Amino acid sequence: MSDLHERFRHVHNRIADAEKRFGRVPDSVRLVAVTKTWPVDVIRAAIQLGQLDFGENYVQEGLDKIRELNNPSLDWHFIGRLQSNKAKDIAEHFTWVHSVTSFDHAQRLARFRTALRRPLNVCIQINISADARKAGIAPSQASALAASLAALPNLHLRGLMALPEVEADFSRQRNIFSQVRKLFDQICAEGLNLDTLSMGMSDDLEAAIAEGATLVRVGTALFGTRVTPPP
Ligand SMILES: *Cc1c(COP(=O)(O)O)cnc(C)c1O
Repeated sequence: MSDLHERFRHVHNRIADAEKRFGRVPDSVRLVAVTKTWPVDVIRAAIQLGQLDFGENYVQEGLDKIRELNNPSLDWHFIGRLQSNKAKDIAEHFTWVHSVTSFDHAQRLARFRTALRRPLNVCIQINISADARKAGIAPSQASALAASLAALPNLHLRGLMALPEVEADFSRQRNIFSQVRKLFDQICAEGLNLDTLSMGMSDDLEAAIAEGATLVRVGTALFGTRVTPPP
């Protein structure tokens, strides 16, 4: 078995074990393979193993890979920082955007997603650690932003995304994810129909699944340590 195959199997097992251990429905957590800095050959090998969801942080790098692979079966998830001047490229080529943090960005995405295509799936990124260096909106603003995004055409508001500070202690990881989960529940209770909690990475996916993650974004555990510096 190749290393890549072995690592995919290991991550699938971790997800299945966490689903079981925390009383989650089997196969209810979607795996997005984060391929930033990895070349298309690596992505091709992952596709051979059945992986169809890929996450990219940098617009140009993502577009190059999307064009080169040119495979309509794939779902491309934009998980990086949004820049207004890139909204058109993102709206035209990705199927998901996890990192919406303002109404202005969402409006641009909505404008460039033509009505002929399926709506662009979007999540609101929450800055749960209140870390000024991290992207995301304050939890107190999430509910109002969600309500205004839900009204935009050509977008499908799916849920919330969080990228908390790396934290070694399992119960502290859970505590942070539980705050995102509570916000998610609150917004659903206010009448929005959300189905996606995008949280959990290589080092904390079990804690995220324990707190209701429906989608985990995993890079290092699947592909190894990123060696190329990001562009
Ligand atoms: C890089 C990245 C990941 C993957 O992180 P790993 O620790 O390599 O699994 C997930 N989400 C976002 C937003 C990222 O930038």
